[in-house]
Amino acid sequence: MGKSEAKFQPPWYVEPYEGESISHYLGRYCRHESVSLSALGKATGLGAILGRWEKFRFIPFPSEEELEAFGELIGLSVAQLKGMLPQESMKLLPIRLCGLCYSQKPYHRMEWQYQSRLNCTVHGVKLLTKCPSCGERFAIPSRWVEGKCLRCGMGFKSMRKEQKHD
Ligand SMILES: [Zn+2]
Ligand SMILES: [Zn+2]
Repeated sequence: MGKSEAKFQPPWYVEPYEGESISHYLGRYCRHESVSLSALGKATGLGAILGRWEKFRFIPFPSEEELEAFGELIGLSVAQLKGMLPQESMKLLPIRLCGLCYSQKPYHRMEWQYQSRLNCTVHGVKLLTKCPSCGERFAIPSRWVEGKCLRCGMGFKSMRKEQKHD
């Protein structure tokens, strides 16, 4: 490493999970630190751009400069931030879920939104695209606070029983 300039590490560092989607991370970060996304947007000069990332709106795709500005503030490297962005073409909606993965660790994985990803690559089961109990679509992952359907209250973890193998 050598004596590179000591990078300021904010006290509010929140470690991203493996493969966590940027939307889920932003929600978790804001709740953890009790800040709003718009306050973060202001502090970084990114304004409404963070709100677009939260909704998986990546056209135009986040630039190096934007990722640097955001990473600087929250103590993440550009590589860490890129790890939460899609690596292949994705579908914005519907939001998908593997209840088995969620039971192991409760967060939304970026790869669930990949266009080609109809099954969970870990468990081989079909990804859910709506609540198996009431049919409600899943909320944007930044709003996944309690991990349950916002309409009927079915827990994401118990949805694993409804997932089928092809
Ligand atoms: Zn899974
Ligand atoms: Zn439901």
